[in-house]
Amino acid sequence: MTIKCIGILTSGGDAPGMNAAIRAVTRTAIYNGFEVKGIMRGYKGLVTNEIVDFRSKSVSNIIQQGGTILKTARCKEFQTPEGRRQAYDNMRAAGIDALVVIGGDGSLTGASIFAQEYDVPIVGLPGTIDNDLGGTDSTIGYDTALNTIVDAVDKLRDTATSHERLFFVEVMGHTAGFLALNSAIASGAEAAIIPEIETEVDQLAELINHGFRKSKNSAIVLVAENPATGGAMGLARRVKEEFPEFDARVTILGHIQRGGSPTAIDRILASRMGEAAIEALMEGQRNVMIGIKNGQMVYVPFPKAVRHDKTIDRVSLDLVKILSI
Ligand code: ATP
Repeated sequence: MTIKCIGILTSGGDAPGMNAAIRAVTRTAIYNGFEVKGIMRGYKGLVTNEIVDFRSKSVSNIIQQGGTILKTARCKEFQTPEGRRQAYDNMRAAGIDALVVIGGDGSLTGASIFAQEYDVPIVGLPGTIDNDLGGTDSTIGYDTALNTIVDAVDKLRDTATSHERLFFVEVMGHTAGFLALNSAIASGAEAAIIPEIETEVDQLAELINHGFRKSKNSAIVLVAENPATGGAMGLARRVKEEFPEFDARVTILGHIQRGGSPTAIDRILASRMGEAAIEALMEGQRNVMIGIKNGQMVYVPFPKAVRHDKTIDRVSLDLVKILSI
C-alpha cells in the first residue's frame, strides 16, 4: 500500500520533548510530500474520531514547550477488539494510511497489537521520562526529568545539611531505576535504592552498614517509586523502627518530574527520532520503535522495545557508593 497520509498521536504519560517530536514528524512528513493528521488524546482520539488536519504551521513555536499539544490520555476502549475496530474504521475514514505513535511501553504494546490485527504500518517513538524501553540508550523526556530531579535535590541538600537529616527522595521510573540511579550520581547523593536489585539485597541495611551511620550526619538517598516496597515512605517507616537515631524525612517529587521545557538534549533527540520515523516509513519499515544506540538511530521491533529486560549499569551503582564515602 502506498502511504499518502500519516497520523500522529501521543499516548500514556506525557514527557518533555513530545512536542519537539510532533514537530519533527510533521515537518519531515510534509517535506517528503505526505499529508499529516493529528490525533487528539492518544488512542482515545482514534476511537472517538478527534482527528485534525496538520500543516507546518500547526507545529510552530512548540519545540520549547513541555507536555503535548496533541494531549494524551489512557484509553480502555483501545484495549478491547471492539475499540480497536472503531479506531481502525475512523482512521481509514480520515484517510490515514500509517501511524506514528509517541509513548511508553503501554502505548507501544497497543500499537503492536493494532498493527498485527489491521495490517497498519506503525512506527513508534519512545516518549517517556522513565527510560524503561528496550533497544534504546535514552527515551524522549528522560534527560529533562533527570535535570528537574537534580535541581530539586540540590535545593533539598541545603536543608538536609542544615538540619543534619536523612532525606529519602522518591522519583518516578515506573518499575525501572534509571532516573533514581543517574540523578543520584548527578546530584552527589549518598545512595540510590532501585527496584532492579531489590530482590538481591536489602538495600536499606546495606546503606546503613556502608559506613553511612559513622561518616555522615546528613544524607540524601534517591529512591525509585516501587509499589511493592512502599517506595520512600516504606523506607522511612523502616528507618524509624530499626534506626530511630536517624531523623528521616521523605520528599516525593511527583508530577513535577513530567513538566518543564525540554533540555537541548531532549529536543535534539526528539528531532532526530521524529525525522527517523518518517524515513522508516518511507523505507517500508513497520512495527518498529526508533531507538538511539551509541549515537545512531536504530529500528527496534516492538516486542523487544516493551520486553522490560533493559539492564541497569552496575558500574553506575558502584560509582554512587564509591563517591559517597
Ligand atoms: P508511561 O510509561 O509514561 O506510563 P505508557 O505508554 O506506558 O506511558 P499506558 O497507560 O501503559 O502508558 O498505556 C497508554 C495507552 O496505551 C493505554 O491507555 C491503552 O489505550 C494503550 N494500551 C496499553 N496496553 C495496551 C494493550 N495491551 N492493548 C491495547 N492497548 C493498550
